[in-house]
Amino acid sequence: DPIIQIKDLEVTYITDNGDFQAVKRVSFDIGKGEIFGLAGESGCGKSTIAFAINRLHKPPALITHGQILFQKNNLLALTEQQMGVVRWKDIAMVFQSAMNSLNPVLPVEEQFADVMRHHLGYTRQQAKERAEKLLDLVNIPRERLSEYPHQFSGGMRQRLVIAIALSLNPKLIIMDEPTTALDVVVQREILQQIFTLQKEFGFSVLFITHDLALMSQLCHRIAVMRHGNIVEVNTAHEIRNNP
Ligand code: ADP
Ligand code: ADP
Repeated sequence: DPIIQIKDLEVTYITDNGDFQAVKRVSFDIGKGEIFGLAGESGCGKSTIAFAINRLHKPPALITHGQILFQKNNLLALTEQQMGVVRWKDIAMVFQSAMNSLNPVLPVEEQFADVMRHHLGYTRQQAKERAEKLLDLVNIPRERLSEYPHQFSGGMRQRLVIAIALSLNPKLIIMDEPTTALDVVVQREILQQIFTLQKEFGFSVLFITHDLALMSQLCHRIAVMRHGNIVEVNTAHEIRNNP
């Protein structure tokens, strides 16, 4: 069974200069435990889809048609409050810049604790123990929990965001250009880590990037977008052999 089904999703930017359909009735499914890639040139609509899926899109973007079925529940029919729970516990997001998700003035330990206190009712001690285990998994020394985000390298910050997201055991993680700002060696490290973590936790991934070569190393299937449409869906194997 798919974890999520996107059906005829249409997203329109409503502006003074007229309406612009950035996503044109797009459909695709992501399987349980699948790493699904969304590729395509800058401006083709990838991020618009990423934000629309967990309803983080903001005006002038408007979902003008379609359904988003998460475990068969239509997310577009949920109240904002119900959606708030889905957003963190079921669908996590990792953005290009880790600083969009981290609080610059809070030690890392507090950021783990906030998430786990708020959503799981953990005590400070329980949160710390789980945070330490998660740091082990992303190869960051435990003693760095007391440090602030700016003390970490870019690659480490991205791994921190992934570790914080994993504290709630999400079923789907949307990664929008998660490694684009990093150098090639660090990119490869992080991809390897995502792969390993996926095996350990079993979550599904929607992996978005304009870098098809990078994507074909990580993903099971890849959808290619052009001007708001999905123009093909292929296995990574097929794309590697017929780029
Ligand atoms: P991608 O992630 O593939 O680079 P986006 O989803 O960011 O593409 O953008 C898709 C299209 O929507 C682009 O043509 C972009 O110009 C347009 N767009 C994005 N944000 C806005 C906005 N706030 N107002 C109007 N058009 C927008
Ligand atoms: P709050 O419960 O704090 O009101 P929101 O759902 O309004 O949370 O999200 C606030 C910000 O947190 C969003 O703009 C987004 O940048 C980030 N965010 C929300 N949900 C997630 C998530 N699942 N993963 C990562 N970042 C998220």
